[in-house]
Amino acid sequence: MQRIIFASANNGKVQEVRYIMSDLNLQILSLSDIDFTGNIEEAGSTFEENARIKAEKIFKRYMLPTIADDSGLVVDQLNGEPGIYSARYSGQNATDAKNNQKLIEKLKKFNKPHNAKFVCAAVFYNGKNFNTALGDVKGEIIYEERGANGFGYDPIFIPNGFKETMAELEPAIKNKISHRFYLKDSSDFSIVTMHFQN
Ligand code: IMP
Repeated sequence: MQRIIFASANNGKVQEVRYIMSDLNLQILSLSDIDFTGNIEEAGSTFEENARIKAEKIFKRYMLPTIADDSGLVVDQLNGEPGIYSARYSGQNATDAKNNQKLIEKLKKFNKPHNAKFVCAAVFYNGKNFNTALGDVKGEIIYEERGANGFGYDPIFIPNGFKETMAELEPAIKNKISHRFYLKDSSDFSIVTMHFQN
């Protein structure tokens, strides 16, 4: 079976990517699986740049085809915050709960609805080419956390067309509408999946 690295140690993301790619004959290794404990500085100014930095660094170290993603939440009324800082929005010791509370407090100054989108940039690198795919899912932020599935901002994000938050939806549904699922549909990313189809 072809091995590929998904350059993340975020268990929530890794589970989703394994699910989404489950029809491909791939063994998807996370950064925890390969015992990578280093720090990859997200020095880029866009999701795409950060994903590219991660993919290149991990490929050069392990010499295995690598997909890296950088994702986050973009809120219209906050001029795109928390954006590329989503994971660390509430500072050095950020947790999902602290990030959600900080966001809610900031949004209380604005009128509802609080339109937002999850964005994901994924970059595949195999030492020759970089292939990039972008995905997003639009929705609205609410003040009360609801649901126990997913991770991050899922409990306060209601995707358009649903009444439930992302954290209340079954994983199978989240994985069909999420910003990561669209990667697979993207024409650029199909180049990635083609590498592995046989
Ligand atoms: P990254 O690991 O730098 O890509 O940071 C991603 C951060 O964005 C996560 O820690 C979450 O805060 C947020 N995020 C990304 N994708 C999702 C999602 O599917 N649901 C909820 N939060 C997400």
